[in-house]
Amino acid sequence: MTDIPSPPVFIERLMHTGLLTCASDTPLREAVERMALRRFSAIVVVENDVAVGIWTERDSLRLDLTRADCLDVPIGQVMSRPVRSLPVHATVSEAEQWFTRHRCRHLLVVDGHGRPVGMVSQTDMAQKQGLEPYLSLHPVSKAMDIAPLELPGHMSLAQAATELLHHNRDAAVVSCSPDRLGIITEQDILSSITRCPGATPIGGLASQPLLSVGPEDSLLHARSRLLDHRSRYLTVVANGQLAGLIGFREIINSVEHRYLEELQQALKQRDQALLSSRLNLQLAERVIEASLEGIIITDPDNRIVFVNPAFSHTTGYSIEEVLGRTPAILSSGRHDAAFYHDMWQTLNDKGYWRGEIWNRRKSGQLYLELLTITAIRDDDGQITHFAALFTDITHIRENEDRIRKLAYYDALTGLPNRRLLEDRLELAVRHTHRNKQHLALIFLDLDHFKQVNDTLGHAAGDELLLDVSRRIRGRLREDDTLARLGGDEFIVLLPELSDAEETSRIARRLIDAIAEPFKIGPHEFRIGCSLGISLYPDDADSAEQLLHHADAAMYQAKQEGRNDYRLYSRDMNHQQHQTLAMETALRNALETGDGLSVHYQPQVDRASRALAGAEALARWYHPDFGQVSPGEFIPLAERAGLMVPLGLTLLRQVADQQRRWLDMGLEPVPVSVNLSAQQFWQHNLLVQFRLLLAEHRLPAGLIGIELTESVLLDKQQQAIPLLNELRKLGCTIAIDDFGTGYSSLSYLQDLPVDMLKIDRSFIQRLGESRSSGAILAAVTGLARELELQVVAEGVETEAQMTALGRYPVALVQGFLTGRPLPAQDFAGQWLGKARCGLAT
Ligand code: C2E
Ligand code: CA
Ligand code: CA
Repeated sequence: MTDIPSPPVFIERLMHTGLLTCASDTPLREAVERMALRRFSAIVVVENDVAVGIWTERDSLRLDLTRADCLDVPIGQVMSRPVRSLPVHATVSEAEQWFTRHRCRHLLVVDGHGRPVGMVSQTDMAQKQGLEPYLSLHPVSKAMDIAPLELPGHMSLAQAATELLHHNRDAAVVSCSPDRLGIITEQDILSSITRCPGATPIGGLASQPLLSVGPEDSLLHARSRLLDHRSRYLTVVANGQLAGLIGFREIINSVEHRYLEELQQALKQRDQALLSSRLNLQLAERVIEASLEGIIITDPDNRIVFVNPAFSHTTGYSIEEVLGRTPAILSSGRHDAAFYHDMWQTLNDKGYWRGEIWNRRKSGQLYLELLTITAIRDDDGQITHFAALFTDITHIRENEDRIRKLAYYDALTGLPNRRLLEDRLELAVRHTHRNKQHLALIFLDLDHFKQVNDTLGHAAGDELLLDVSRRIRGRLREDDTLARLGGDEFIVLLPELSDAEETSRIARRLIDAIAEPFKIGPHEFRIGCSLGISLYPDDADSAEQLLHHADAAMYQAKQEGRNDYRLYSRDMNHQQHQTLAMETALRNALETGDGLSVHYQPQVDRASRALAGAEALARWYHPDFGQVSPGEFIPLAERAGLMVPLGLTLLRQVADQQRRWLDMGLEPVPVSVNLSAQQFWQHNLLVQFRLLLAEHRLPAGLIGIELTESVLLDKQQQAIPLLNELRKLGCTIAIDDFGTGYSSLSYLQDLPVDMLKIDRSFIQRLGESRSSGAILAAVTGLARELELQVVAEGVETEAQMTALGRYPVALVQGFLTGRPLPAQDFAGQWLGKARCGLAT
């Protein structure tokens, strides 16, 4: 065949991991109530981890509903057994064949040990991706049930169940009243039997109003309507008349039909080839000899009459060893009698069989073959031979398994990857929607993981990730999914939650688990993590949005100090966008220099109010954001790692300005610039300052710096030599916002500092409380002892000015004596005037 096989899709992608299970001694009534409550259409009966039986909606039709005690039996007595299942690595097309073969709606999915891990329903199959083109091209009329079962509304529940069973239908149209139709489905029956006696008329139980589609509508449209209305069936209405019924089952059958047609086409071609080869035996023999496919020809009693060399090559048996025996010598024991029975049934009915089958080589080794058996008939239609063609596809299956692993799982941790997570999430969302439950998504990102990678190497980083994934897994329930998105990002999917608080508790548990020290090789260290949580349906209505929101919340947790979690809120998205846009704009402003400027605020002598110096204050104007306050863009620059270049730009502007004022013959005053921690502690600060002063040929004393206490926090000893060097360059050193931070008067003694700027908050409380006066007295007294100049910041009123007269405060800076001004205005108003000389 010339078809290029498309990559296999595995049922794992479609399955629900939420399973409804019970023990075999559970009363049927209880099982039915649970099914009805959660709208599950099947319940699996489990003993010792193994599924021993299943009971479905269909089985509810078999109950004798006329008896009031029909539900008072243990489920073990009425369940179907054994349970038919497929392994998780079965493909979707295998599942499709399975559904047709067994004519049922549920398929249990088991792991390698036969333990139930999930369920695939026909609904899932109908929803699966990739069918859309087919569904959109074909009209409802092609798939619908044209002769739906119609039942009168006065019929009893018990009778209706019997009718559905008898006609092998899972839904019927109910004439509730002369002009009103309804639909009753297996599901409706199931959810009624615990509440209503068997004699209840179905007219009141059927669902109305009717949802309908037209015969010319596409199957895709029908499917969307079914999903949107969480309904199992739609009526098909043409010209106001009921024309048929359509549900997931019909949709699936029509898809199935397409596959069969394709298969038949392929086999017809093969039959023709065989026919013509009979006509040209010599040629046929040569083809068969040379064929890479193994070929077995048997008589009608299945005795082997011919095999080709490829057969011997694959199985290890020579021609002589197998002639006269049946192909059963290859049997692996892996398939049950029912499998072979089905195979012969199909062969007799359709004339061919095709499928995958496990066989055993002479050596005992198992292999998987793709086998096609064709019945060859003579002109009278009598079977004369069976021809079997097979290919060893063991290695293809192995590859598929590998591909599946690669495609859906993270190679390092073995956890589901983004793709599988997205699939599971989508399913979980639909499932949660149907069952009116909640689910939560936690986005977990390690803090400072990069440092581990950079300092200890990638091998240690990998080990850490493995440890982290084990710890998280250990704190989760079995139904929860843990996935790794890549790097140090993990996702936890928590289905079936009761409330947001439960999620918060789990988040806390995860943070605590990761906070424990890690031991990697000889290294022991701690690491934190930041978590973001989004909830369904509260925060988002799609898988994609949930992920996005959890990410935004995680980002927020990082911004606000790390090692914590945040629940998503609607403003976050907006905020994050705004922050990001502003960061980009600031980056651009730094590149072009547009909109960034410096304002100068005068510092004046308290007594004479003559100019003594100025503080340089950064300003940023952006066409979209307008005037952005430094209180906003300075922290932004720090977070975005832009503070050093920004600081340098501003420093240059100040130095340029001083140079220009000198050149204009004005007498500039000392201007102090604010240095943030990142700027102050950069390794080449001194070099920068020296260069700056030299390039602009500035005399000593024209540029000073302001540092807050937090910049020096814990690092006072390291700061001392640096401050000394700056002083040698003629920089005045001021401690800014004094009194707000980690004020410790004692450390001031050791630091080479020239000036204390008393924070605005003290000045503003002056006169309001006695304590602020006392503090001011103590601080200014000490400053005098230490020979530090004192600047009072934020003086706004004459009253404050007067109050300050009681303390040894030499300088004042505030709106009262002068607002920050652009360079030109500042020069116009302040420079060139008489003033009290340079500050010492
Ligand atoms: P800061 O260093 O304490 O600067 C003084 C702030 O007080 C300025 O706010 C100034 O406009 C304001 N101010 C002055 N007098 C009064 C007054 O009488 N009343 C009131 N209510 N406010 C007054 P601005 O310009 O908004 O700057 C805010 C902060 O941004 C500064 O506080 C400083 O921490 C930071 N900043 C400004 N420019 C720079 C810079 O170039 N580099 C760094 N690292 N930080 C800067
Ligand atoms: Ca300042
Ligand atoms: Ca200040």
